Amino acid sequence: MVNDLNNNEMSCQELVELVTEYFEGTLPPTERERFEAHLGQCSGCTNYLQQMRHTIQVLGKLTEETIAPQTQAELLQIFRNWKKAA
Ligand SMILES: [Zn+2]
Repeated sequence: MVNDLNNNEMSCQELVELVTEYFEGTLPPTERERFEAHLGQCSGCTNYLQQMRHTIQVLGKLTEETIAPQTQAELLQIFRNWKKAA
């Protein structure tokens, strides 16, 4: 349940912030574990990851510019709306 996140579990905002490192493979194992645990319970972030994979395939790489801060904010707004609807 997304609403049952405790302090040890990753938030959607954390996940979005770490997605570049996740794809680059530079995420520490413990963080990666939390990242994937969050994905297992959050359809919003799963969709986000799929979009990122598509973006990487199109651009061939993922840069900081690919995920502009305002894009992150928009995505987080979308996540919040999904949770309300859930
Ligand atoms: Zn999430």
